[in-house]
Amino acid sequence: MKPIFLDHASTTPIDPAVAEVMSEVLRGELGLGNPSSSTHAYGRDAAAAIEAARADVAALIGARVDEIVFTSGATESDNLALLGVARGRADRGRHLVTARTEHKAVLDPVKQLEKRGWQVSWLTPDRDGRIDPAAVDAALRPDTQLVSIMHANNETGVVQDIAAIAATCRARDIFLHCDAAQSAGRLSINVDSIGVDLLSISAHKLYGPKGIGALWVSPRVRPWIEPLMWGGGHERGLRPGTLATHQIIGFGRAASRVREQRESDARHVEALASRFRSGLADLEGLRWNDHPVHRLPGLVSLSIEGVEGESLMAALPAIAVSSGAACDSATGEPSYVLRAQGVPTELAQSTLRVAFGRFNTDDDATRAAALLRESVVMLRARDAPGSPTGEGWGMGEAGSLREGARIRCFVRLDAAQRISAVEFRAATCPGVWAVLDGLRRELVGRPAVAPTVDGPRDWAHRFNLPTEKLGRLFRVEEALGAAIKAAGEP
Ligand SMILES: *Cc1c(COP(=O)(O)O)cnc(C)c1O
Repeated sequence: MKPIFLDHASTTPIDPAVAEVMSEVLRGELGLGNPSSSTHAYGRDAAAAIEAARADVAALIGARVDEIVFTSGATESDNLALLGVARGRADRGRHLVTARTEHKAVLDPVKQLEKRGWQVSWLTPDRDGRIDPAAVDAALRPDTQLVSIMHANNETGVVQDIAAIAATCRARDIFLHCDAAQSAGRLSINVDSIGVDLLSISAHKLYGPKGIGALWVSPRVRPWIEPLMWGGGHERGLRPGTLATHQIIGFGRAASRVREQRESDARHVEALASRFRSGLADLEGLRWNDHPVHRLPGLVSLSIEGVEGESLMAALPAIAVSSGAACDSATGEPSYVLRAQGVPTELAQSTLRVAFGRFNTDDDATRAAALLRESVVMLRARDAPGSPTGEGWGMGEAGSLREGARIRCFVRLDAAQRISAVEFRAATCPGVWAVLDGLRRELVGRPAVAPTVDGPRDWAHRFNLPTEKLGRLFRVEEALGAAIKAAGEP
C-alpha cells in the first residue's frame, strides 16, 4: 500500500482539471504554436491561451494582468525579485532587510549579495515565529533598497503580518518583496490591500504543475528591476525564453480552480488538522510549532520530546510527511527555522511537519495520528527508565538526544568474570540501533577486561554507518565501558 500523502507544503498533487487541460496542450489540441509567432493562427491562439492563464493567475492575487511575469517557479521569482532589484538600485545604496526564517530561495540569493558587498539586516522571529513589524522598522536605513519577508513559513506555517510590515516600508518609500509560495491558494491575497511591491508564487503548491511560477511586479518597482537573463525580451523584458505553454495554461487552470475552492479547501484541511491534533491529545511531551492563530490552514508542525528524529521517520513508513527538522544535509544541523524560533536542538531534531491537502480524507487524519502515537509510545518504551529484571546488572550511560544518541547499557558478568548478558535502553537512530543489537549478541561470553570488543570505527565499518554517526558510536562505547566496569565492582 502506498503511504498517505501528508506533505502538501512541499508540493501538491495536480488537480485532474489541470492535468486535463495540460494534456490538451501536449496533444496539440490547444496552444500548439509559439506564442511569439504572431504571423499565424497557431501562434495567436497560443498567445491568447497564455493571456487567459495570466489573467487567472493575476486574479488569484488581485493583480493586473500585465504585472505578472512567468518564471520557472518561486525560487526563480525570489531570485529575480532580489537580484533584479539589487541590480536596478545598486547605485542608490546597498542595504537589505530579511529574516533568518526565510526559504532558501530567498536566503541564498541574499547571501550572494552579501558576498558582493551588500549589507544585510537579518531579523530573528519571536518565539511564536512572527517578525515584529517594529523590528522591520528599526532595521530600515536611508540606504535600504529592499525588504524581503515571506507571507507564510514553509516549515511552521506561521503567517506574518505582511500588511503591517508593508505599511512600515511604504512610510519610508522602501520596496517590499514577499514570498507567498505557501500562502497563494491557501489564504486570500490581494496585492493592493496588503501593500507589497513584489510577490512570488508557485504553481505546484496550489495543485498545478511543477516548474512554473510567477513574480508579480508592481508598477512602482517596474522601472527599478533588471532581468537576470537576456534573450528576446519576453515577459516585458524581465524573463526571456519561449513561454512554457503547457505549464502556463496548467498554472492558469490551477489558479482559477483554487480561487473557487480556496475556502472549502481551507475548511476541509483545517478539519483534518484538528482531527489529527485531537488524535494526539493524550500523548505527553508535544510542542506545537505552528501558530495558534496566524497559521496556514491544514499545516501542523510538532516536536516530540524523548524520541530521536530519524528513528521516528523510520517508524512511520505509512505516512509521507516531512521531518520539519529537515536535517540540513551539508551541516547535519536540524532546521534553521525552528532554531531561529527558539526550539532547542533536541526538540528540533524530532519535529514532523504534517500538511493536509484537498484530496486527504478523515480516515487519513485519524490513521496518521494513530500511527504517530503508536510509534512514539514504541520508541519511548525502548528508552524507558529502570533496569532489566534480575540482579547484578552494572549500568553505564552516555550521550543525549541533542547528540542523536542517548544510551544506557546494562551488563551482567558470570563467576568467571565473563559477560553473560547485555541490554540497551536508548533513543537513537536505526543505524546505531543495528550496532546495539549486534553488540548485544557478540558480547556474550567475552571477558570483561579491555579490549572486550572492537571500537566505534570498526562498528561503523561493519554495520555500514556513515562517518557522521561516529560521534554517536563513541557514546555507545562510553556507556558500554562504564557498564562493564560497574558490573565488575563488588
Ligand atoms: C516551495 C517554496 C519555494 C520554492 O518554489 P519552487 O516553485 O519549488 O521553486 C519558495 N519559497 C517557499 C516559501 C516555498 O514554500
